[in-house]
Amino acid sequence: MSALTDDQALNMTPEQAEMYKSLSTIISDPNTASFHLIDEKNSLSKDILFGDNGTAVDSHGNSVSATPGVHTIDMGDIKNLGTTGIETAQAMLGHEFEEGYQIQVKGMGGDDAHYGPAITTENKINGYNRLATRGRADMAGNTVVLSFDIGSGKVQTVTINTTNNNFQSINVDNNQVQ
Ligand SMILES: [Zn+2]
Repeated sequence: MSALTDDQALNMTPEQAEMYKSLSTIISDPNTASFHLIDEKNSLSKDILFGDNGTAVDSHGNSVSATPGVHTIDMGDIKNLGTTGIETAQAMLGHEFEEGYQIQVKGMGGDDAHYGPAITTENKINGYNRLATRGRADMAGNTVVLSFDIGSGKVQTVTINTTNNNFQSINVDNNQVQ
């Protein structure tokens, strides 16, 4: 008879266990990753959609991050994704924590962390495969369009409508499996 792993003992769903595994790795690492958490009332919220990892630069290498060198997470926007559906608040939070961990502790570049471990973690927590293409922005104007492989060869797009990168009115379209 084998011992239960922590996630089995806590009776988690596979998706919850993935969130737990990711957070345990980050917390148990002797090196520290730091995050600045804000809500929708913070003045920075209008400049940050779900998270700003502090590394974004323009084509000349100049910082275009809203919070250079600081990983800021907008909990106001994240919680408005809701906890059910194809894209969820818990998966987006897991994405941001994993991204910051890889950048700050593992020395990974911002894009590499985003398109690599961050989206992989997000997918494991959501249980769907987000189809993200490096170099192609998901956001155009105030609209974010995310595509997901939801299984059996089906692709579904989830549209997130924002006002100044801020969900002043919650508007996530097509987030339930059709
Ligand atoms: Zn990211």
